[in-house]
Amino acid sequence: MNTVFDPLADASLIVAHDISNAYDAVVPPIVQTSLFTFTDYDDMVASYKGEKVRPIYTRGLNPTVRMFEDMLANLEGAEDAIGFASGMSAISSTVLSFVEPGDRIVAVRHLYPDAFRLFGTLLARMKVDVTYVDGRDEDAVAKALPGAKLFYMESPTSWVMETHDVEALAALARAHGVLSVIDNSWASPIFQRPLSLGVDIVIHSASKYLGGHSDVVAGVVAGSKTLIGRIRSEAYPYLGGKLSPFDAWLLIRGMRTLPIRMKAHEASATAITRRLQAHEAVETVCYPGLANQLAPGLSGTSGLFSFIFHEGVNVRAFCEHLKLFKLGVSWGGHESLVVPGEVVLAQKAQPNSAVAFGISPRSVRLHVGLEGTEALWNDLEAAINAAV
Ligand SMILES: *Cc1c(COP(=O)(O)O)cnc(C)c1O
Repeated sequence: MNTVFDPLADASLIVAHDISNAYDAVVPPIVQTSLFTFTDYDDMVASYKGEKVRPIYTRGLNPTVRMFEDMLANLEGAEDAIGFASGMSAISSTVLSFVEPGDRIVAVRHLYPDAFRLFGTLLARMKVDVTYVDGRDEDAVAKALPGAKLFYMESPTSWVMETHDVEALAALARAHGVLSVIDNSWASPIFQRPLSLGVDIVIHSASKYLGGHSDVVAGVVAGSKTLIGRIRSEAYPYLGGKLSPFDAWLLIRGMRTLPIRMKAHEASATAITRRLQAHEAVETVCYPGLANQLAPGLSGTSGLFSFIFHEGVNVRAFCEHLKLFKLGVSWGGHESLVVPGEVVLAQKAQPNSAVAFGISPRSVRLHVGLEGTEALWNDLEAAINAAV
């Protein structure tokens, strides 16, 4: 299903706000309040009884947050969505909504490191087991699924960008009665819409492309009314990782340009990865856009990839020589960034699992931002020349 999704053509990004409540402002207001008052006693009674849906307290419902959730639900083709204070809050709240002690999760290997650590620490303590599989090996996935509660995917994966046939894996999970979840941060709903491929729940770190300006940490989960309702009624209020109205407003602002930003990241990263692949100092480039054919379900590629230098290239000198690419984690904003694999491998976080992510010490991860392809390439080329 490689249908090209054009959110500008079908207006998925347009969510009406009641302009009469906002001084006729074209930009929606930030409803920056912790609580909402009731018109009278009966209004309060009806709201508490749930006879009417209205905001009471911002940890439960806030109009600005709701507007962001509606935009994201439209983009993912979901019935509902729920915002969170971070991508990790979205991941932990989702997983904790559906597993209990004694359950088992099947996950693709090379997960986002903090998701891997969540599974290895808190979930392990709760007696939830995780089986890691190579998501490209459908037989291995099919063998691991029976008896599992949850199938956790990421495609492409975080460092080596392994892509999967998401539709085929989702069908396997469904056949075994296992709830499927995917972290779709890399592709964004512009290039991959997992619900249309049969996945049950989609998670985003909104800190990346959805926000798009490196100025907010947030997360969001989309899916059916029933599944999101379950997260909304338990994990969301009690774990309390709510999205703030101001952060939701920044996300609304950012998402208006999501389609054009994604196309620009794709164009620049495609040009740069092709040149890197042809460069004699480079051994391998891990970028889904270099394959003859994109993975099924993926209609485009973003700006994040890694590559491995040949033996003997000085990774530190390469990084230190870069001017436009700054040393920094995260990605998805305007800025181009570089993360050296050897630094991640030296990280002290527990469980120290860098090996589990497939990271080579000769690799670097790049985020190709929006500064302009030629300037970025010149920066990379000069840095490589300084490192060989
Ligand atoms: C950053 C990231 C997360 C975590 O999101 P935060 O907003 O930083 O909590 C999850 N998954 C992927 C793929 C990420 O890159």
